[in-house]
Amino acid sequence: MANERLDAGGVIQHWYDADAEPITIVEGNDATVYDDAGTAYLDFLSQLYCCNAGHSNEQIVSAIAEQAERIPYVSSAKHNDTRSRLATDLAEIAPGSLSDVFFAISGSEANETAVQIARTVQDAPTILTRWQSYHGGTYGSGALTGDPGTRKTLERRAATTGVGKFLPPLPGAFDAETPEELAAQAANHVEFVLRNEGPDSVAAIVTEPIGGTSGAYPAPPGYFERLREICDEYDVLLISDEVITGFGRCGEWFGIETEDVRPDLLTFAKGVTSAYAPLAGVIADEWIGEEIRGGSYDLGQTFAGHPVACAAGEAAIDVYRNELIDQGRQVAPHLESRLHGLEERFDVVDTVRGRGLLWSVVFADPETGEPFVHPWVDDDADNPVADVRSEAQDRGALFGSGRPDVQIIVAPPLCVTREEIDEAIDALEASIEAVF
Ligand code: PLP
Repeated sequence: MANERLDAGGVIQHWYDADAEPITIVEGNDATVYDDAGTAYLDFLSQLYCCNAGHSNEQIVSAIAEQAERIPYVSSAKHNDTRSRLATDLAEIAPGSLSDVFFAISGSEANETAVQIARTVQDAPTILTRWQSYHGGTYGSGALTGDPGTRKTLERRAATTGVGKFLPPLPGAFDAETPEELAAQAANHVEFVLRNEGPDSVAAIVTEPIGGTSGAYPAPPGYFERLREICDEYDVLLISDEVITGFGRCGEWFGIETEDVRPDLLTFAKGVTSAYAPLAGVIADEWIGEEIRGGSYDLGQTFAGHPVACAAGEAAIDVYRNELIDQGRQVAPHLESRLHGLEERFDVVDTVRGRGLLWSVVFADPETGEPFVHPWVDDDADNPVADVRSEAQDRGALFGSGRPDVQIIVAPPLCVTREEIDEAIDALEASIEAVF
């Protein structure tokens, strides 16, 4: 193919999946998708961590059709019954006193909205985020993103003012001997950055509760608890970016609940509708909602809270509540143990980490012990794991790729079965065996 970024219709793949042969996906059912030749693949990335309810769920599809027939669109400046019901559902499942919902369309916009709300209520300009994070690729959200691969593309394009970065709670970033030491060092470092920025100028800290595209990394125990204390001490808001970790992905409704910590604002997208329609938003603590309702923030987008998307969201939450959060919890330990099996079996597999149904297999050079660097970060780097993803695809299983070190990301829909986990991880195992 002359230019693999162009599909048959001439669509430019802006996020080109260079690690695997291009396939054209035309159908899906539960955890399986089909290409235009009818070949089946187990979808172990839920199409970019999105389709938590799997593909072609009848309840969600019917809700979309019913809404489209009744009234597809109602101005985002008017009330709409479906939108209101979804907001009530979101407030119900959100942790603590988070209760006020602001709709957006994408995760990037949700994060920008959260930043605007935080800056408004705190009357302070600076936002702190961590290196090795992803919060979006638009003009403002790109500035929040701290993934070195993405930053190379964003460098000259994103609005970088007013954002400071701190180090993630990862072993490579600190010299700690135990997880407890790592938690303490990483949290002290955040406090150091905050004090040097000047706490009065900092509106919020934005963080993924479990790192997503930077490699499914949970924080060491105690880190988030300390981060919450620091936020309280310096009167800074804690924003949990739940674009990937929400809606059962990590075993609870939201990833931050697995840390037993209360955020002030929470952003969501992807899984809210299981990606059956684009929808995103922010859930704010009651007191923030009250301030905003006072009229200090009056912004929004035309398609924010689109009724068809809200109908999908309402149905998806019903499916998660009645069925899939439990089902995901039941199969997650099996996935975890199968992935740890890879760590035991292959020297080239350095670490397996994650939570619930969000996992990363990190690869390292067995001779040096150093992780392979992703070509998005270093143009000259080889990516020997690209062939593993390609081989796995040939064996009927689709996985994701993480960065900045070379990783395979595993994030199946919550409806995945034990048998499908075995099938996909067998395919991954055979692929690693074939390449290394
Ligand atoms: N936040 C996180 C944690 C993400 O992983 C992503 C996208 O992958 C975003 C925000 C941006 O979401 P979107 O691509 O819908 O703008």
